[in-house]
Amino acid sequence: MQTIIRKSLLYKSEVEYADFCLNHVEGCSHGCKYPCYAFMMKKRCGIVKTYEEWCQPKIVSNALDLLDKEIPKYKNKINYVHLCFSTDPFMYEQDHVSDLSLKIIDKLNRNKIRCTVLTKGIFPEELGKRNGFSINNEYGITLVSLDEDFRKEYEPNTSNFKDRISSLKYLHKKGFKTWVSMEPYPTPNFIKQNFIEILKSISFVDKIIFGKLNYNAKASEFKHAKEFYNELSSVVIKFCMKNKINYHIKQGTQINVES
Ligand code: SF4
Repeated sequence: MQTIIRKSLLYKSEVEYADFCLNHVEGCSHGCKYPCYAFMMKKRCGIVKTYEEWCQPKIVSNALDLLDKEIPKYKNKINYVHLCFSTDPFMYEQDHVSDLSLKIIDKLNRNKIRCTVLTKGIFPEELGKRNGFSINNEYGITLVSLDEDFRKEYEPNTSNFKDRISSLKYLHKKGFKTWVSMEPYPTPNFIKQNFIEILKSISFVDKIIFGKLNYNAKASEFKHAKEFYNELSSVVIKFCMKNKINYHIKQGTQINVES
C-alpha cells in the first residue's frame, strides 16, 4: 500500500454532530458512488485526480507520530475523536488500514480520549476484547439498504450488509455503545425498499442518524423528496422512541412541506 506524509492529523470538525476528527488515510477502496463527498472535495482541490486513484488508498505513515505531538496540544479541548469523515477506518479487506486504525484508537484511549468510529466494512473482533477506557468508544456502521444488488452498485467494495450488521452486533453484545448512520438514504427512484425491515435489523443499537441523499442528479429528479424524507424521518423518530434508541435527523432531511 502506498503511503503519504501529513503535517497534521487532529482537527475540529464542522459536521453537525461531530467534535474532533482525524483521517489517517487518503482515499478509500470502498469507492461509493452516491457520490462520496470526500472524493468530490479532494478532486475539486486537485488532491486526487480520478476515481481509480481515490480507490487506491494511501496510508498516512506518520499518523502515530503526529498524534504523539497533537494529543497534548488538544487534549483539554477534545470531547471525543471521530474516525473518519474522509475515509473509512475499517475498509473491507484492507488489513494495513485496520491495523493502523486499531493502533490509533488504542493510543487515543490510553490518553483517556474516547473515539466514535464509523465504517462500511467489518469491525475486527479484537476491538471487542479491549477493556478499560475503550468501553467509552462508540462504534457505528453505515446502512441504507439490505439489498445486496443495490450495495454492489452504489458502494461496490464494501462488506456485505449481513456481515456488517453482525460485526456491530458483536460489539453491542460485548457491552459497547453502537450506532447506525442511515445516510445517504436513497429515494424510491433508486430502490423501493421496506424501511421498517431495515430499522428492525438494527433495533439493538443505541443511536440512529438519518439523512437524505445529496449531490445526486437522480435523487433531485424525484418529485416528492420532501414528503418522502419527512415521512421516513417520522418513522425513524417513532421507531426510536418505541425502542428507546437515541436519534438524530440530519439538517435538511425533515423540513416543512409548506416552506
Ligand atoms: S466509505 Fe465513505 S469515504 Fe469511503 S468511498 Fe464510501 S463514502 Fe467515501
